[in-house]
Amino acid sequence: MLRECLVSLLFPRRCPVCSRIVLPEGALICPDCVPKLHFIRQPSCKKCGAELISDRAEYCPDCQRRQRSFESGVALIRYDTVAQKSMAAVKYKNRREYLDFYAEAIARRYGYFFKHRKDAVLVPVPVHPARLRSRGFNQAGELAVRLGQLTGLLVNERLLVRTRKTAPQKELGPDERLRNLRHAFAVAAEFRWEPAPGKPDSRNLPGRAAGTAPELPQTVILIDDIYTTGSTIEACTRVLKAAGVRQVYFVSICIGGGL
Ligand SMILES: [Zn+2]
Ligand SMILES: [Zn+2]
Repeated sequence: MLRECLVSLLFPRRCPVCSRIVLPEGALICPDCVPKLHFIRQPSCKKCGAELISDRAEYCPDCQRRQRSFESGVALIRYDTVAQKSMAAVKYKNRREYLDFYAEAIARRYGYFFKHRKDAVLVPVPVHPARLRSRGFNQAGELAVRLGQLTGLLVNERLLVRTRKTAPQKELGPDERLRNLRHAFAVAAEFRWEPAPGKPDSRNLPGRAAGTAPELPQTVILIDDIYTTGSTIEACTRVLKAAGVRQVYFVSICIGGGL
């Protein structure tokens, strides 16, 4: 308790929107700043969760056009200039405290999403080890841990690995992004399972011999900070499904595109 008081005196919590010290003490965001975030409203795309302008279509134009190997996903806010600033501060100014607010808002708003997937494992989209070293943390991993605490779902930060450092995606179109990301992710070797020659595939079967690779989850919820064209989630889904994961969902703080 004393320690918490000292920490909040020395490092008072800052607001994810205006970056000023949050009042009243104990709040995660200034009450006045909440309406500055654009929370995703219905109707939304049944695949990626982006806002739709009318409920005549079930899917956004992006999801109608592109192959989506994942089941579906949800996002909290629109990736507008306010959100862009907030996400950049998390990553580049080490404002990890902002994720406390976003995780709580996601858990509150999408409680049903997690409740219906009690056996799912939360898997953050990984960053390359070199980037992890320079930044010191993976924002998606930090978000996944917070969501795990709030929802009671297991978190696995080792399942997916980033095998290749990719060129910045900003300037690329959706197809180029997906191409750029090909071979960028892999399921960690410890979770990969090769059937012995002539033996049936016994992945995920009960009674698997002890000492074999750790069990691969059947259902994964990918966790990321920003969903733009969906190519990162698509690339991660493909490697997870190729390894034997049956269902892949995603949860993201921000979502762009849609309409
Ligand atoms: Zn504020
Ligand atoms: Zn969509």
